[in-house]
Formats: sequence, C-alpha cells, structure tokens
Amino acid sequence: MKKLVLASANPGKLRELRQILQDLGYELHAQSEFGVSEVAETGTTFVENAIIKARHAAAQTGLPALADDSGIEVDALDGAPGVFSARFAGEDADDDANNALLVEKLRQVPAEQRSARYRAVIVLMRHAADPSPLICEGSWEGLIQLQPAGDGGFGYDPYFYLPELGCSSAQLSAEEKNRLSHRGQALAELKRRLSEQDV
Ligand code: IMP
Repeated sequence: MKKLVLASANPGKLRELRQILQDLGYELHAQSEFGVSEVAETGTTFVENAIIKARHAAAQTGLPALADDSGIEVDALDGAPGVFSARFAGEDADDDANNALLVEKLRQVPAEQRSARYRAVIVLMRHAADPSPLICEGSWEGLIQLQPAGDGGFGYDPYFYLPELGCSSAQLSAEEKNRLSHRGQALAELKRRLSEQDV
C-alpha cells in the first residue's frame, strides 16, 4: 500500500477519506502521527489554502499529502464569507455566531438575491515542490434563508436552502448530503482520478 498523509486534524475527514483511499490501494495517515505543526491559512482562495496545508504536511513528513478546504460564498456579499467561513464572526466564532452574522447581513436582501454556494477543494501534492498538484473541486448551489430549518449537518446547513428539493441541507440524511454536496462531488472526483492514474 502507498502511504499518504492527511493535512487535517478532523477525525471525521480522516475516517471518510481513509475508507475511500484504502479501496484504491492507499494507506492514509493523520498528520498528527508525524507531529506536523499547524500552518496559517493565509490564502485568499480555497485552492491556495488547500495547497498551503498539503505542501506543509508533505514538507514535514516527506510523504505525498492530501488537504481539503471548503466554505460558503454568498453572491450578495461579494463571495463572503468564502475562505473565512469558519471564522466569519471572529477567530473563535462558533456556528451560531457565524450564522447570526450571516442572517444579519442578509436581512434586507430579497430572497431571490440570496444565492450562495458551498465549495470544496481537495488537493493532492506528490511532494512539497510538486508543480502540478492534483486539484479536485465541488460546488453546490442554494439560497440563504433567514430562518433555520433542520438539525442535521453542521455549520451553515440550517440556513442553506435547496430550491429544487424544497428543504435545507440540514434536513437531508447524511447519505443524501454526501451524495449531493460540494464535498461529496470533490471526493468522487478524487476517487475517479486516483483510479485512473497512480500517484
Ligand atoms: P473547513 O474546510 O473544515 O475549514 O470548513 C470551513 C467552514 O466552511 C466550516 O467551518 C463551515 O463553516 C463551512 N462549511 C464547509 N462545508 C460545510 C457544509 O457542508 N455545511 C455547512 N457548513 C460548511
């Protein structure tokens, strides 16, 4: 099995990716196993931030590295919160604070102008100086609603309304969300590309 390191401290992401990669002949290790330090996410795009994290993990471990980055873009806010999605209301903000700020900023915006999308990027760098990282992306369109609905998912999900389904992403089962979501799409692309080419 070929070894890869995951540049994330999230055990949920590790579990999900490990399963997919194992089927393709890769052994995924947490960066914590190698004592990889935190790195500042200083990019202005999801791709940049994913590359920063993957490059850092590859440099510190000497292994090929995977990293992901995701967030939500709201058109009426010129794409904010974007790469600041996790810290929209401040460095230590939680989901409730971020959601409250989002609703506050959109209160005067008519419903049909509250278009938004989740984006996810997964990057694989074969080594720290890899000039052409494998970049897999997904995006998921919706509208921001001002009242929350549903208790599934996390983050902005209770406010992310899916017009064609008539519900929020927090009202989907985990399986449905994984099948449709930005992250599900990026993962499916990663899986397809790794099954076509060796890393
Ligand atoms: P990260 O990619 O784990 O750093 O996540 C960035 C942030 O984007 C999260 O903290 C959430 O605020 C938001 N986000 C990303 N994906 C989702 C999702 O599927 N549902 C809700 N919020 C999300």
